[in-house]
Amino acid sequence: MAKSSVLGYPRIGAEREWKKALEAFWAGKLEETEFQSQLKAIRLNHLRKQLLKGIDIIPVNDFSYYDHVLDTAAMFGIVPNRFPYEGGAVPLSVYYGMARGTKEATASEMTKWFNTNYHYIVPELDGAKPTLTENKPLAAYREAKSELGIEGKPVILGPLTFLKLSKGYKASETDAWVDRLLPLYVQILRELADEGVQWVQIDEPILVTSINEDDLRRLNTIYGTIAAAVPQLNVMLQTYFESAESYRDLIALPVQGIGLDFVHGLSGNLEAIKQFGFPSGKVLGAGVIDGRGIWKASLREKLSLLETLTEYVGADRIVVQSSCSLLHVPVSTQYETKLAPELKNALAFADEKLDELVLLAKAFTSGESAISEELTNSENAVQALKQSDERNRTAVKNAVAAISAQQPLRSRPFSERQIAQQEKWQLPLFPTTTIGSFPQSAEVRKARQLWRKGEWNQEKYEGFIREQIDLWIKLQEEIGLDVLVHGEFERTDMVEFFGEKLAGFAFTQNGWVQSYGSRCVKPPIIYGDVAFENAMTVEETKYAQSKTKHPVKGMLTGPITIMNWSFVRDDIPREQIAYQLAYALRQEVEALESAGIGMIQVDEPAVREGLPLKAQDQAEYLAWAVKAFRMTTCTVEETTQIHTHMCYCEFHDMIDSIEEMDADVISIETSRSHGELIHSFELNTYKLGIGLGVYDIHSPRVPEVEEMTGMIDRALQVLDPKLFWINPDCGLKTRGTEETVASLRNMVEATRIARSKH
Ligand code: GLN
Ligand code: ZN
Repeated sequence: MAKSSVLGYPRIGAEREWKKALEAFWAGKLEETEFQSQLKAIRLNHLRKQLLKGIDIIPVNDFSYYDHVLDTAAMFGIVPNRFPYEGGAVPLSVYYGMARGTKEATASEMTKWFNTNYHYIVPELDGAKPTLTENKPLAAYREAKSELGIEGKPVILGPLTFLKLSKGYKASETDAWVDRLLPLYVQILRELADEGVQWVQIDEPILVTSINEDDLRRLNTIYGTIAAAVPQLNVMLQTYFESAESYRDLIALPVQGIGLDFVHGLSGNLEAIKQFGFPSGKVLGAGVIDGRGIWKASLREKLSLLETLTEYVGADRIVVQSSCSLLHVPVSTQYETKLAPELKNALAFADEKLDELVLLAKAFTSGESAISEELTNSENAVQALKQSDERNRTAVKNAVAAISAQQPLRSRPFSERQIAQQEKWQLPLFPTTTIGSFPQSAEVRKARQLWRKGEWNQEKYEGFIREQIDLWIKLQEEIGLDVLVHGEFERTDMVEFFGEKLAGFAFTQNGWVQSYGSRCVKPPIIYGDVAFENAMTVEETKYAQSKTKHPVKGMLTGPITIMNWSFVRDDIPREQIAYQLAYALRQEVEALESAGIGMIQVDEPAVREGLPLKAQDQAEYLAWAVKAFRMTTCTVEETTQIHTHMCYCEFHDMIDSIEEMDADVISIETSRSHGELIHSFELNTYKLGIGLGVYDIHSPRVPEVEEMTGMIDRALQVLDPKLFWINPDCGLKTRGTEETVASLRNMVEATRIARSKH
């Protein structure tokens, strides 16, 4: 009998009750005991659901009070010494202090979990003396067993991945850290084995990125030690998000099971199994149901994939799994009442994926006929969406095919455009500008709410937006900025705003996923061919331009960012989705230009996020990402100035690609990357216009003039003064009005000083 399993279940709860409990606790509105009991109820509810659905091997310890990487650090007592911690179980106040900061101590860094939009808290190892403060997997196992009779599968973040994701140690200290952590892992696992645990899932997603000889040696040490110390325990060594590297070495490790991703790493993993086989004594965790995508699977295709696998692994040794934790998808489609039926029927969120896994395991054991009705249903749902008008916009498909076959080139190279643009715009040395948004005050948010609820009509709302634009055009002129913006008051979110206006997008009512901590996002769904319908930004931009003699920059979100921050269809390559978006946005660029807007910024902050995990796949992605940006922007006049913006600092390794985007001006974050970025520009001799963020907008602090002149002087040692712009790091929508005005005044003053020196 084939068994079904998942690698983890969403924490946030069907109605985000987890988020609400956390935030109530932080706000002091919930006593700790009440908070604990609410979280326990949520946790048990999730386990009960999996039990009732019929999942055979249910994960425990995948639940968290914030983040599973932070949990692992806390379990080992790894707490930075700026927090008041004296050993033993880490109190909630310290745990949340590390996650969110306190009055006295800054939070630990947070960063993206592989190539997902989930963010984890980076453990800080410097100065830490790890000990086992509590056996959290054991507690989770006991709770599931005593409360629900579930024989749970504890999930543990593996030592190698934990170390690789941590900071505060030198590469040369890695082995010493393995030596420190390994006994603690052994202790946890021994206690689990003594309790009668059958299987543990040890997550080592780092094994899908490139791993070197040293890491392979460490893996052998780690899993060899565990096998020798706790021989009675079955370890499922779990990889996900891509195909496993060094497959042959992995399958030779002394573990009882290997978990592979047959969705996102399908071709690599399948090829490896075909070429090298699979050891006869081991269990294969076959991740066939997409844990990150939101689409219903074709059960027939999945069954045939499982059949293929039986050529190499006995059917009794295959566990039918999700490709990764279901953390990355919303909880259930059951709350969606407004989606078109052909779309809703084709969706599978976490709960629907549980059903798929159970069905597959059943059919895999007893043959297709055991689920023939469900097979037909899933086939029909997938087909209905495939044949929908939304997915068959022939005009879009043809236009995109034609355009993407051409080289997306501006009419003239930058060196010539630069002269033509300077002649037209007559900008001073070091032009000043901002990134787009101005403070979204309580008043702005309130107005939008009233309008959404229907209490304000369209006219009233638009009037309000125009007043905000008036106000900020005046302020920008008074402050003395050179290139102005309209302020983005009509936008909540830089992706949602465009998604609501383009065809091919859908918005769920309850499709929330955890982004970090209690913060959840509800990504749009790109489910059809994307099409431009009406101008999206022209009215506000034109209005702003009519109020000033200074140039006003139009403001768009780029194709790659829209794609990377949405759930996307999986029936066509991402590259094609990007080109469809590019074609739609190009029409907006052209509409702005025709309306007299001569500077247009196309934001691409999320380009880096889409970078494939495997080094060998990255160049291809960057090539089509750059092409999509150029498709969006290449048809304008030479005197029309194309700007772009990127943030989140880690661009050091892709400056060549940034240059290939051929934007006349890029504004880029630098203030948080401690000058490293400036250094990489030095090595690369960037040749286009560039604005380095001269102050960090993430803090309410008003930067001093001298700090900014310092930044400017430093940058000018590296960059051509004729190409240099001065701007803040990012959009100002989260800031207060007063501090924004004060900061920008100082920035303009710093610019005046810099100009006087040149
Ligand atoms: N134009 C956007 C803004 O100013 C850019 C936001 C971003 O980079 N994330 O808000
Ligand atoms: Zn930004």
